[in-house]
Amino acid sequence: MAKEELECSFCGRKKPETNLLIAGLDAHICDRCIEQAHGIVLEESKQNESNDLSTELKLRKPQQIKAFLDEYIIGQNVTKKVMSVAVYNHYKRLLQAPTNDEIDIQKSNIMMVGQTGTGKTLMAKTIAKMLNVPLAIVDATVLTEAGYVGEDVESILTRLLQAADYNLEKAEKGIVFIDEIDKIARKSDNPSITRDVSGEGVQQALLKLLEGTVVNVPPKGGRKHPDQKFIEVNTENILFIAGGAFDGIERVISKRLNMQAVGYSASMSDDVLDQDHLLQYIIPKDLKDFGLIPEIIGRLPVLTYMDPLDAATLRAILTEPKNAIIKQYKKLFSMDKIEFKITDGALDFIVHKAIEYKLGARGLRSLCEEILTDAMFELPSSDEKELNVTKVYAEQKLTKSTIKKLKAVS
Ligand code: ADP
Repeated sequence: MAKEELECSFCGRKKPETNLLIAGLDAHICDRCIEQAHGIVLEESKQNESNDLSTELKLRKPQQIKAFLDEYIIGQNVTKKVMSVAVYNHYKRLLQAPTNDEIDIQKSNIMMVGQTGTGKTLMAKTIAKMLNVPLAIVDATVLTEAGYVGEDVESILTRLLQAADYNLEKAEKGIVFIDEIDKIARKSDNPSITRDVSGEGVQQALLKLLEGTVVNVPPKGGRKHPDQKFIEVNTENILFIAGGAFDGIERVISKRLNMQAVGYSASMSDDVLDQDHLLQYIIPKDLKDFGLIPEIIGRLPVLTYMDPLDAATLRAILTEPKNAIIKQYKKLFSMDKIEFKITDGALDFIVHKAIEYKLGARGLRSLCEEILTDAMFELPSSDEKELNVTKVYAEQKLTKSTIKKLKAVS
């Protein structure tokens, strides 16, 4: 065939009428037909995505779930194990075809107790990422009973719908992380509060969501859009994970343990109790004594705790997780063809400062940012091909005033 006779086998356009004509084995295709076909492919794959949610839910076995968590989260092995089993059971229940043996597998909503900054949110985020399901993170402190200033409990589901791009089917299999659940504990030691707006009333409202019910949810949230149509959301298959610091709960645990020791035998004596890590002995009753109503505790049946972060853990957080802070800086600098190095001494120094000023894991990033800002500002316009951060360099960049600033915002 002469060259000028070539044409697109799909639309028949002659070669001169096209911008590009690509040859296959026995046929040709022009640029316009490629674009059109590409559009169809995208459209199709989008439809398959929303039709076939169960294949999209990437469920792994508990050990695989833990291995995935290990890539992103340092330590916290007890919680990782407990979460892996709970999440596995939850989604197994969800993916299983209905049976008629009348055995209903109940939800395994999870309660995580641990100081702030120990990775509770990270745990929920990582689980959602692994399962590829939408995640809503809400703060219990902003929730109030309907009719009061603040957000209604239903707003939690508005957030989840938003996280799922308003795909109801996806939202109904999503995860909700309720942070600071301890802040809605009943203030039992203050009998003068007759209307406990942010306490027991909110717990009661939460109960329904946790146990599984159909809720009318304003898709745009709140009272600003009074005319919007409600969406009915079934919470039966939504996994709820609650987290809280429960400041002072160690005292409740210690009191209970001491009473046990006196009441029964000396087997629970001080030498077997790890007094510095009392959270590991937490039981549901402690949450009740702290001020959560028993029904809420019952609906969050998987109870687990987070260890406080010690120096070794903070050090590992800097360098080891898949998207560790130091790895991120390496990548940022490498985009400017600069090799970023940091000595062990400098890393230890950062950890030491985070502990000294009680900045926790969140402070690690701010400390690195303070140390590296000058370099990130100057090096891209210079001929430097390497940055080696030593302890001395870090000390120079981290003046007293910058630390003061970090303390103020943390
Ligand atoms: P919490 O929800 O308990 O207050 P976060 O999950 O928000 O804590 O953690 C704060 C930051 O600290 C996160 O950005 C996370 O990167 C880091 N972090 C905390 N604990 C860990 C951990 N065990 N492994 C890795 N990173 C952690």
